[in-house]
Amino acid sequence: MVCRLAGRSAPHKLRSGGSTRIRCHGSASIRGPVGARACHVNDVVAIRPPQRGLPRSPLPNLRDMPREELAAWMAAHVPGPAFRTTQVFEWLHARRAAGPESMTNLPKADRQRLAALASFDRLRVDTVQRAADGTRKLRLRGAAGDPFEAVLIPNDRRGYTLCVSSMVGCSLTCRFCATATLGFIRNLATWEIVEQVYQAQDLLAAEAVADGSPDGQVWAPRIVNLVFMGMGEPLHNYVQLKRALAILMDEHGAAIAGRRITVSSSGLVPAIERFGREGLAREVGLAISLNATTDEVRDRIMPINTRWNIATLLDTVRHMPAPGRRHVTFEYVLLADVNDSDADAARLATLVGGFDCHVNVIPFNPHPGTPLRRPDDARIVGFVDRCRAAGLQVHVRMPRGDDIAAACGQLALEASA
Ligand code: SAH
Repeated sequence: MVCRLAGRSAPHKLRSGGSTRIRCHGSASIRGPVGARACHVNDVVAIRPPQRGLPRSPLPNLRDMPREELAAWMAAHVPGPAFRTTQVFEWLHARRAAGPESMTNLPKADRQRLAALASFDRLRVDTVQRAADGTRKLRLRGAAGDPFEAVLIPNDRRGYTLCVSSMVGCSLTCRFCATATLGFIRNLATWEIVEQVYQAQDLLAAEAVADGSPDGQVWAPRIVNLVFMGMGEPLHNYVQLKRALAILMDEHGAAIAGRRITVSSSGLVPAIERFGREGLAREVGLAISLNATTDEVRDRIMPINTRWNIATLLDTVRHMPAPGRRHVTFEYVLLADVNDSDADAARLATLVGGFDCHVNVIPFNPHPGTPLRRPDDARIVGFVDRCRAAGLQVHVRMPRGDDIAAACGQLALEASA
């Protein structure tokens, strides 16, 4: 049973076949400043990756395979010279071909075999909502037909940032996050993760064509940053995430530089260790959603903290293999009267001051039903000033696309009803 801040009656969907669940220590309760209705929580926290929910299709989707896997598949099913794999990979991931019929540099017989033995499904774009600030929210449907979202955000200087989802719903129960109210529906497959990038890039290309230009040239803006901060906990879907990153960074695919990719985690310690051990931490950025400076508060707003507390989490990040490790970001959702005091700012500086990091303060983005509040501007400035005075590098992430519920923590498929 999970307590909903909003008092919603929707059943909690966090069911995870094969995953171990534990009860939180004691009975956390959310009261006082966090919620007018005191609500006692007998939370369950999934401590192993949810097993449920990779869509199965009768034929393997070739967009699901990193290049080495594709090479092995090709060798077994469409044997030919090794460069054939690179050609197919380029068609799928650099040119975003609909299927083998357009792969004109392949022999006809190979194209026929590919068509018979593999699937080339792409995501379907259900709706695109556009916010006043230019942010677009794409509602997408994948193999199972259930919708999820990706958010395209114009950068101040150049290109776009895409906020990518890793699950339909989320396996976690963070109190401030709208996605958590959906529960865990399923993991996204590798191809459903990479396709979010391709669909968003296709949207930019289509918009550029529609807008035209006086000299007849069409320049579609590019997606230059990826943040895994959409729906879901990316490190709970580790295997698909890792394969998707390999595809997205591949020089024969979208070729997105690892330094322009950030994976955000709520603090799944074993997966963060694996992220370091398997070298991902050297390739892409890691953001940790810290969001509180005491275990008492973090237990209440992020029940995962009852499994891996602040000290354990920070220790894990501290001990990730150092050589070449990319810079760490700590995210801090600022909640009025919950974690926004001067004492919090001072504790935050003590906790993360020793890291080569910067802190992203995200003023809370409200969503229907939540009793949580964003601090007023004076408190946000006061908190940030205190952090900076204590030596932290702080960036305040102001909401983007909040008029279409596309800002951090607002993704909850409200339009899908
Ligand atoms: N599960 C991952 C990624 C998804 S959330 C994680 O926890 O990091 C991405 C970021 O948005 C996290 O830092 C999270 O703390 C923040 N966030 C979630 N809900 C929010 C809200 N309502 N307002 C502001 N930030 C929010």
